[in-house]
Amino acid sequence: MVNEIKKRTIAILGSTGSIGTQTLQVVEEHPDKFEVYAITANTRVNELIQQARKFMPEAVVIADESKYQQLKEALADLPIKVYGGYESICQIVESKPIDIVVTAMVGFSGLRPTINAIKAGKAIALANKETMVVAGEMINALAIEHRTPILPVDSEHSAIFQCLAGEMQNKVEKLILTASGGPFRTFTKEQLEHVTRQQALKHPNWSMGAKITIDSASMMNKGFEVMEAKWLFGVGAEDIEVVVHPQSVIHSMVQFADGAIKAQLGTPDMRLPIMYALTYPTRLTSSFERIDWNTLKELTFEKPNLELFPNLRHAYTALAEGGNIPCVVNAANEICVAAFLEERIKFTDMPKLIERAMEKATYILKPTLEDYLETDKEIREMVTTWI
Ligand code: MN
Repeated sequence: MVNEIKKRTIAILGSTGSIGTQTLQVVEEHPDKFEVYAITANTRVNELIQQARKFMPEAVVIADESKYQQLKEALADLPIKVYGGYESICQIVESKPIDIVVTAMVGFSGLRPTINAIKAGKAIALANKETMVVAGEMINALAIEHRTPILPVDSEHSAIFQCLAGEMQNKVEKLILTASGGPFRTFTKEQLEHVTRQQALKHPNWSMGAKITIDSASMMNKGFEVMEAKWLFGVGAEDIEVVVHPQSVIHSMVQFADGAIKAQLGTPDMRLPIMYALTYPTRLTSSFERIDWNTLKELTFEKPNLELFPNLRHAYTALAEGGNIPCVVNAANEICVAAFLEERIKFTDMPKLIERAMEKATYILKPTLEDYLETDKEIREMVTTWI
């Protein structure tokens, strides 16, 4: 039988964000394949109400407790359980009927719910890469202990995951992560000094949330993806190469010991990797746009410019230093991105502040969860005082 999967019950953390809404589009396209058990949002209560009325989940959570009353009243006529507060998100993922948790919230906030979901034996459709950036080693150990898969949603990692299908016995020589290079790829150092928030929010190929769009423009996103790839696929940082590929058609590649390279190609549509993570190893039929080989003229490649985008270098340094340093980079970056979006710092200040945070941080070789929470808090406070 082709395209048959057992119905999967899912929870979507961050359902009103870019990945969350696209996950719900996948559910809409295959209503017989998925049951939405829970949806959660940070602050966008109106969108959450609309989603709840449409998809009728068992439970809805809003992290922002000041919006809880509004949510509860708006859904009072429906048999939906309504909760408020971040702790409720950490708890809802443990609910028995859930098979897969889609972690699509922004930043460090994804860590604790993901840990709880793994401990409860849920499969993770990982869209929150910061979880792996901050605590990849710990997450891997937990996933092995609780025998639960971590399925990548990030397009590059989904591509690698797809290239690895059927290759488990074969030695991987190198992972090749492609990067669009972002909107400032061809800028000079001088031009980069003066880029605005609006310019940085315009990604050439992908439509995404604000935080990841800024991360893409600064190459921090690619640095995080190198870290994510290391932990997801067990490959050393020295065997992960970043290649700038401005068309974003090749989503990433795997080079094997015999020199053969497999690539996964597609249109830049996140619904494809979302659907693959939710239905792995089965591929469902989709109505999404196909590549048109008559209009696709060329695929080009170039080296990433580490002079212009030091964040990518910072990521490799953080991986080499290990311990809590990736957590430091993530915390500093979250503060920098927020400050840049509020137009309080320049685009080129971000990598400088991140580097300073890496120098000033107290190094912890084998961090516990408490150490990560403490490092995150300390670095946020420290970088805030510099801004
Ligand atoms: Mn990506």
